Amino acid sequence: MFLTRALAEQREKQTLAPYAAFSADSRGRVYPEPEDPYRTCFQRDRDRIIHSKAFRRLKGKTQVFVAHYGDHYRSRLDHSMEVAQLSRDVARMLNLNEDLAEAIGLAHDLGHTPFGHAGEEAMNQLLKPFGDRFEHNEQSRRIVDYFEEKKPDYPGLNLSFEVRDGLMKHRTTYDRPVATDTLMPSLEAQIVNIADEIAYSNHDIDDGLRSQILKVDDLKTLALWQAAEKCVNRSMPFDLWVMAMISSLITLMVTDLAEETHRRITKHGIKTVDQIYETPAALAGFSPGMAVWMEELKAFLFKNFYQSPDVSSYNAEGKTVIRLLFTRLMDDFKLLPEKFQERLKIEKPYLVVKDYIAGMTDKFALELYHSLQK
Ligand code: MG
Repeated sequence: MFLTRALAEQREKQTLAPYAAFSADSRGRVYPEPEDPYRTCFQRDRDRIIHSKAFRRLKGKTQVFVAHYGDHYRSRLDHSMEVAQLSRDVARMLNLNEDLAEAIGLAHDLGHTPFGHAGEEAMNQLLKPFGDRFEHNEQSRRIVDYFEEKKPDYPGLNLSFEVRDGLMKHRTTYDRPVATDTLMPSLEAQIVNIADEIAYSNHDIDDGLRSQILKVDDLKTLALWQAAEKCVNRSMPFDLWVMAMISSLITLMVTDLAEETHRRITKHGIKTVDQIYETPAALAGFSPGMAVWMEELKAFLFKNFYQSPDVSSYNAEGKTVIRLLFTRLMDDFKLLPEKFQERLKIEKPYLVVKDYIAGMTDKFALELYHSLQK
């Protein structure tokens, strides 16, 4: 028997929590399309994301370390896959729509600039004189809505409302994105936000130890590390012990997230997805105790890893590259590829230059930077 889309949709209705985002109830796509015979709309969206050029470019974008620094450090592609995996796991634990969580997780960083957060910071500064700012979530949505080319009938990937909505994660009562009338995104999208935090905290500890920028003795001062240590047998080679520690940390965080989120769902008497859309505070989150531990860990990573001399000098270089590219491209639009020059007819120049630079891999940005220096 084939698992048709109709059957998959029916299974969702029978097995998922009543407040899950059911694919059969999706608010749909901007440009209506015939449904796929076998895949649900969210499965189809996930596949469109994986097959996009912006997704492939993530392998050349820095997470914290320069993407070609070493074979085992995370690129933004690795990070995105880890976020998708954690999101799927938590969605499954809570009986939510795994396909939706996976699609948002894979796409959440598509709009990231080259050179990690340093690149984003530099871009943000450059946009200020234009009364604008750079926000990678918004950029991710611009990519899936406008820049990816799939069919002659429409721009972008024409993803479902729920995936696009999930890409706009920083949502408050006062800041409702134009394209949506909901206060909060789906629970699946809220989970991706926290899965992002879980993923980077853990892979940054791993990459920090691997690069010897972080020391185990320093991590031992953290309450969360101490809690994880209690679950891990010390008598094994160091490398394996580090892996077991990371695994233990992830388990603690994931379990806490699932349990606390479930507690909040019960407390608020959530029965439908529409209630999730209208609950002003996020329902997905850590317990108060874990939230304190996470803050302590993030402050530790900020001071000891992101601000370490090695990472800082790399960040400074990344910022220099972005600044020069922006200035030179703004001075001479002929340096832009033809497709971007075309867009100058309909878009403000600073946005065209921003979109071009934000889409670059580290390597591409560095090569262009060096060629402009000659
Ligand atoms: Mg991320």
